[in-house]
Amino acid sequence: MSDDPPTAKYLVDIFLPEKAPPTPKQYVDELKGVAGGKQIARMKKEAVACPVLNKTVSFVQCFACPNFIRRVKGKVDCRGLPLPTA
Ligand code: SF4
Repeated sequence: MSDDPPTAKYLVDIFLPEKAPPTPKQYVDELKGVAGGKQIARMKKEAVACPVLNKTVSFVQCFACPNFIRRVKGKVDCRGLPLPTA
C-alpha cells in the first residue's frame, strides 16, 4: 500500500506580484539543500494569498510550510490546518 497524499483543503493560486514579497531568511535556509539557488531565486518572486495566515506570503514560505502538500499547475495543495503564527 502506498501512502495517499494528505487531503488538500485549499487550492491556492501562485502568482507573480509586481514587487517580490518579503521572504524571511529562515525559510530560505530551510530550502537550501532541497532546491538550487536559481530555483530559490525564482520562488522568492512568487507569492500566494495564504487562506490560513490571511495574507500574501512568499512562495518560499509556503513551500516550507507544514500545510504544503505539493505544487501542481501553478497551484498549491494546502492542508489548510491552523498555523501557530496565524
Ligand atoms: S501551505 Fe501554508 S503558506 Fe501555503 S497557502 Fe497553505 S497555509 Fe498558506
